[in-house]
Amino acid sequence: MKFSRLLIALLATGTMTTASAQEKVLNLYSARHYQTDEALYANFTKQTGIKINRIEAKEDELLERIRNEGANSPADIFLTVDAARLAKADELGLFAPVKSKLLEERIPANLRSPDWFAFSTRARVIVANKDAIKAEDVQNYEDLANPKLKGKVCSRSGSHPYNISLMAALIAHIGEAKAEDWARGVVANFARTPKGGDTDQIKSVAAGECGVAVSNTYYLARLLRSEKPEDRRLMERVAIIWPNQKSYGTHINISGGGMLKTAPHKESAVKFLEYLAGDDAQRYFADGNNEWPAVAGVPVKNPALEAMGKFKADSLPVATLAKNAVAAQRIYDRAGWK
Ligand code: FE
Repeated sequence: MKFSRLLIALLATGTMTTASAQEKVLNLYSARHYQTDEALYANFTKQTGIKINRIEAKEDELLERIRNEGANSPADIFLTVDAARLAKADELGLFAPVKSKLLEERIPANLRSPDWFAFSTRARVIVANKDAIKAEDVQNYEDLANPKLKGKVCSRSGSHPYNISLMAALIAHIGEAKAEDWARGVVANFARTPKGGDTDQIKSVAAGECGVAVSNTYYLARLLRSEKPEDRRLMERVAIIWPNQKSYGTHINISGGGMLKTAPHKESAVKFLEYLAGDDAQRYFADGNNEWPAVAGVPVKNPALEAMGKFKADSLPVATLAKNAVAAQRIYDRAGWK
C-alpha cells in the first residue's frame, strides 16, 4: 500500500516534470509598469506559442518574493528598470548566467553583464524653464550646483534609484569628493524639499515654480506626445538640455532583465530574452514607451524621440553604476538630499 502510493507519487512527479519542461509557458516577474508592454508580450506568444504568466509589482517587492520563494519560485524571468536594481538581484545570486550568441551580438558590451541584459535605454536630462533660465548656464550636471541657481533647482528624492544611478555615474567621472561637493551645492540651490516624480518636476518647471530639474527622457516624450493639449502646451515652456556633451556625455540608465537560477522553464526564458533583443521587441520599447533600443541600428519611428534629437551618451558600463550605488546613497544622505 505504502509502496504503491510512493510509486504513484513518483510517477506523478515524473509526469509533472516532463509536462512542465515541455509546457509552453513562461513565468515573468516584471517591475515594468507600462501599459504599452501588453503588445510586446502578446507578440512573443504569437511568434513562439509560449504563454506568458505575468506578475507585476514594485521592484523591491518582487525581489523579496523571489527570495522568499527560494528553490520553489515559479519565476523564470525578472524584468526591471534601473541598473543598480538589476545588480542588486545579481548580488543576491538570483540570476543564472545566460550564454547566448545572439544576445552577445545584439546587446552592446557596456549594456550587459554575464547574468543580465539591458533591452532599452533612457537618458537623464536637464529641463529648464525657458523664461527663468539661460540654457548656456545649465549645460552640465555640474552647473546645477552653481550658486547662480540658488532657489531654482527642484528634484525628486535622492534615494530614488534614478538619482542614485546618476550620482553613481558622477562618482565614476569626477570622484567621490567632488561628487559630494556637487550634491551639497545642489541642495543649497533647492527651490523646495525634494518631492514627487520626474513628471512632477517637469510640470513645476513649466509652471515656473522651479527653474530647473532633471528628468528621464521618456517622461518628456510622453508629455510631448500627449493627447491632452495642456500637456503639449506646458512642454513649450520647457527647454530640454543634453548635459555634458563636451565631456563624458549624458547619463543613461536602462531597463533590462535576466533568467532566474531557479527558472522552471529555462528554454522559454532564453527564448524570451532573445526575443526582447529582436527588432520587433526593440521597436516596442522605442515606439511604445519612448525609450531607445539597446540594439544599435534598429529603426525607430517615434516623433517625440526624433524631436529630442541626437546626443552623446555616457559610455560608462552600466554595471559600474551598480558598483557605486551604496557610495551614492551615502553622499546624498551626508549632503541632506532627502
Ligand atoms: Fe520611470
